[in-house]
Amino acid sequence: MSKLLTQKKACRICRGKEVGKVLSFGPTPLANAFLTEGELRDAESYFPLDVYLCKNCGLLQLMDVVAPEVLFKDYVYVSSTSPVFVEHFNRFAETMCDRFSLGKHSLAIDIGSNDGILLLPFVRKGVRVLGIEPDKAIGAVAKKAGVETVSAFFSSALAKKIVKEYGKADLITATNVFAHIDDIHEVAKGVKLLLKVDGVFIIEVPYLVDFLEQNLFDTVYHEHLSYFSVTALNAFFERAGMRLTHVERVETHGGSLRVFATRKDSSRRSSPAVKSFMQAEKKMELGVESTYATYGLRIQENRAKLISLLSGLKQEGKTIAGYGAPAKGNTLLNFFSIGSDLLSYIVDDSPHKQGRYTPGKRIPVVSRDKLITHPPDYLLIIAWNFAPSIMAKNEEFRRRGGKFIIPVPTPRIIK
Ligand SMILES: [Zn+2]
Repeated sequence: MSKLLTQKKACRICRGKEVGKVLSFGPTPLANAFLTEGELRDAESYFPLDVYLCKNCGLLQLMDVVAPEVLFKDYVYVSSTSPVFVEHFNRFAETMCDRFSLGKHSLAIDIGSNDGILLLPFVRKGVRVLGIEPDKAIGAVAKKAGVETVSAFFSSALAKKIVKEYGKADLITATNVFAHIDDIHEVAKGVKLLLKVDGVFIIEVPYLVDFLEQNLFDTVYHEHLSYFSVTALNAFFERAGMRLTHVERVETHGGSLRVFATRKDSSRRSSPAVKSFMQAEKKMELGVESTYATYGLRIQENRAKLISLLSGLKQEGKTIAGYGAPAKGNTLLNFFSIGSDLLSYIVDDSPHKQGRYTPGKRIPVVSRDKLITHPPDYLLIIAWNFAPSIMAKNEEFRRRGGKFIIPVPTPRIIK
C-alpha cells in the first residue's frame, strides 16, 4: 500500500505540525469504487478515514492521501446529469459576466471542467473558454459540446503553457474540485501565473459551517481532503501571495462557499464580508478541538437511532431498500454498518452504477424499475439532501403504501 497512500505530517495550508485527529471513521473503502459482479470475489482496499484539525490555521483536513490515479480510476460522475447543477452554472455565468464585464474580449478558464457544464453558458455568451479536465473521456464530452478542453491535471507548468498558447485569463474557476486537491499551493502558483492583474479566481467549496450545522458528516470520504472555513481560506491565500476579496454562501452540496480571490497587485477592493465571516466563525469555535468531539457524539447518536429503527422494521418482517448511491452514501453505509441484511437493494438513476455493488457493504445498485417489480415497504433516502425531489419523483411508490425514511440528522419516517 506504500505508493497508494501518503500520510502527511504537516498541514496542507500552513505546513504547521500541530495537527490533531478530531474525528475517525475507521478504515473505509474508496467511496467511488463500486464493484462489478466479478470483483466481488476479491478483497477490497481499505484506507484510513480520519479527520484532523490544524491548531495554527484552523484547516479541517484528511492527512491520509490516496493517490489520485487510484482515487479517480473509476470516476463516473458526469455533472450535466444533474439538472440542479446545470441551472446553478447558468446563473453563475450570468452573474459573473455582469459583475466582471466579461464578453468577447475575455478568457474564462475552468479547472476540473468535467463535461463543460460551467463553461458552456460562457460559450453561449461569446466568452472565450478553456476547460482543464484530467479525465479524457469526460473531456471528450465537453469538446463535443463545443468547450475547448485540455486533458491534464492543473499545475504551474501547465499554466505557463496555457499562457503561451491562449494568453492570460480574466476569470479562473475551480468549483467543487479545490477541496479534492492535495497540493493547493501548487494550484495557487499556477493561478497567479495565469491570471491577468485584475483577473478573478473563484472557487466553490463545501462550507465547514454547513458541515457542522447540518450534520453533513457523510461528505467525509477520501476524495474530499479539505473542509474549509473562511478563516482557513484567508490564511491560505495570504500564504500563497494572493488576496481573498469576497465570500458568499451558495446552496450547492448542502451548503457551499463561493470565494473570490485576486492577485496581490490587483486593484480590486476587498469586501467587508470576509471579516464578518471570520468573526462569526470565531464565535462558533471552528478552530477548537472540542467542537468536533461534540459533533462526533452527535453522529454516534444518529447511528444508534437509525440502526435501531431499521432493525426494528426488519424484525417486523418489513422490507427496506435504499434510494441514491452517491459517493457520500458509502460513508453513511460503511460507518453506520448498514449492509444487505438491512437494505435489499439501492436504486440509483445513474446507468454507470446500475448492475454494480456498493464498496464495502456490497449492496446491489439497480434501476428504478425494481421499485415496481419488487417494491419494498420502506425506502431509505441515502441521498438525503435531495429528499424533497426524490420523494416527489417517487410519488407512485408512496401512493401504493410505501414509506420514506430520512436517515439524518435524526432518522425519521415520513408519513
Ligand atoms: Zn494549518
